[in-house]
Amino acid sequence: MIEYSINFFRFQGESMSENLISKTAQIILRAKKVVAFTGAGISVESGIPDFRGPSGLWEKYDPMEYATIEAFHANPKKVWNMLKDMAVLLERSRPNPAHHALARLEAMGLLSSVITQNIDYLHQEAGSKRVIEFHGSSKNLVCILCGQSYDRSKVKLDSLPPKCSCSGVLKPNFVFFGEPIPWGAHLEAKEEAASCEVMLVVGTSAVVSPACDLPIIAKRRGATIVELNIEETQLTHYISSWLLKGSASEILTLLLRELGSSDRPRVEMV
Ligand code: NAD
Repeated sequence: MIEYSINFFRFQGESMSENLISKTAQIILRAKKVVAFTGAGISVESGIPDFRGPSGLWEKYDPMEYATIEAFHANPKKVWNMLKDMAVLLERSRPNPAHHALARLEAMGLLSSVITQNIDYLHQEAGSKRVIEFHGSSKNLVCILCGQSYDRSKVKLDSLPPKCSCSGVLKPNFVFFGEPIPWGAHLEAKEEAASCEVMLVVGTSAVVSPACDLPIIAKRRGATIVELNIEETQLTHYISSWLLKGSASEILTLLLRELGSSDRPRVEMV
């Protein structure tokens, strides 16, 4: 039976979902290993739209038309027009309180790692040290012919598509729909999921495969799955132990405050 925090909410009040926030803090403090699994929703408040909500970028470009590897190979110039707009958004974005809260939890010894589906590098900018980038990163471009890697910020986007010195087309070093998951990240993420006692699932619709398997792996190994989202997802009734309903930055700020005020002894992380 799923528990909801919505009944406890007092928007613009001092406390939101007090009972479940406090319950989440307790299981974090008792757990030997806590992992966060994040999706596009955590970066919405940093100005990067997710795929689901109303947004400028994905109204202009249908991800199914522009974000597949087939589309990239068929017409790299067309896809690079979208990538250039995305690059402007990414350059302007900064970590929000949700990213900072996860970095703080790690620094407090309460979080083992962040597994992210995001390619925006905001967890690292917030100070998270162990970030598993399940879908790669926007920080680098890679030549599709020779594999040479380039720092994205040093590549001019005046003429599209950008090219390597070998004249091969450059592609962002993140996964397009239809591409395999980077092997090392996939393995590490599955290991983290299988060995955690608590998984915080933050801002993901959990429909993109195989990332959506990670909460299921954790659940099967007995982990408590705490979902943080502004709405229910397909995990909510079958996988999540409870849902902290609200924006990631509000909920994680409250959780951090609750953990900070707790004087219970911390079990050592493994
Ligand atoms: P998604 O767009 O499918 O779902 C986003 C989820 O976040 C939704 O469930 C939504 O209700 C929730 N959400 C929205 N705003 C929120 C907020 N303020 N607080 C808490 N939750 C909020 O995203 P996904 O599940 O990550 O899958 C989309 C794919 O697209 C992923 O593979 C991801 O790599 C990619 N993507 C990445 C970025 C990024 O790097 N920032 C942005 C868009 C898409």
